[in-house]
Amino acid sequence: MNVLITGGAGFIGSHLAERCLQEGWSVSALDDLSTGSFENVRHLKAHPGFSYTIDTVFNEPLVAELVDCCDIVFHLAAAVGVRLIVDSPVRTIETNVHGTEVVLSATAKKKKRIVIASTSEVYGKSVKVPFSEDDDLVMGPTSKGRWSYACSKALDEFLGLAYYHEKHVPVTIVRLFNTVGPRQTGRYGMVMPNFVQQALLHEPITVYGDGSQRRCFGYVRDAVEALVRTAKTEAVAGQILNIGNDQETTIAGLAHLVRARLRSRSEIVRVPYEQVYGPGFEDMFRRVPSLAKLERLIGYRPTTSLETIIDAVAADMRPRVLKVPAAEITLPPQAYKTALPTHFSQPA
Ligand code: UDP
Repeated sequence: MNVLITGGAGFIGSHLAERCLQEGWSVSALDDLSTGSFENVRHLKAHPGFSYTIDTVFNEPLVAELVDCCDIVFHLAAAVGVRLIVDSPVRTIETNVHGTEVVLSATAKKKKRIVIASTSEVYGKSVKVPFSEDDDLVMGPTSKGRWSYACSKALDEFLGLAYYHEKHVPVTIVRLFNTVGPRQTGRYGMVMPNFVQQALLHEPITVYGDGSQRRCFGYVRDAVEALVRTAKTEAVAGQILNIGNDQETTIAGLAHLVRARLRSRSEIVRVPYEQVYGPGFEDMFRRVPSLAKLERLIGYRPTTSLETIIDAVAADMRPRVLKVPAAEITLPPQAYKTALPTHFSQPA
């Protein structure tokens, strides 16, 4: 199978590229390196099945050509991260809406399959637990920039499903919940890389708000396993799937776990939201995926524990953050054990 991954040099895209190559598929990655990085795919460069193009999804002739050469598109190119969304709302909306228009239109012309990455943000302020794919989406006002991300991705979903119903394009929407793991950068505000870096440096761990907000963290390798299985399943055309882990933690609890796990001397500090994101910022209190549909349709359920994820993130980050060669780092014994293998749960 030939696979096109838009956003292929990003955090999730690069893991997906790796996993598709393992499957024996050819991978073409398209990335403008805006939030992605060539470092994420450098190790794949020599692989005979891997090719990459540094350009944007707005380049219509190029996208048409790349789509023509593939059997399935994973459309992951998007503006991501709360920091980026708050700082650059124009870029967020344009990338997410226009980029998806270009990719979907090219995919429709060539009648190819496409998996569009959406986000758990689309559930917005809904207080339902857990979130199921057919639930109502509860958005905040347009005067609050954060919601532009959720709305732009919701529009992507509408467009994708419209192509499915009206033009019979095999479109699948995947809503990725908080996905974390090696290579994720803290530059755009994501909590896991921020906490791990702070703990490794014994700097204060910054909990925004009172820390009682909850999230479920899914391991990136579980998420890409779910994506690969989605690509192998015909029955997902026209469907929306939640992808994530349903084990919940509070953000304060995560801070304590990261500190303990990494044997850090960091203090844990609370930072008011206004100080980080400006006045009137609205955070989501709870966000738990229902994984029933994912399990039913593709026979897979992510299960990697938070402890294993923290160890893997720390093992990846240590050489860069501590600026010493990996070989010179002494890890605590339990980190050796848990950082090495990737744990995929197998369907029963
Ligand atoms: N957060 C935090 N400290 C940080 C970064 C984020 O306490 O250094 C909080 C953030 O306010 C949110 C949660 O951690 O409540 C998850 O944030 P992230 O940006 O990773 O994901 P999202 O907000 O999209 O769930």
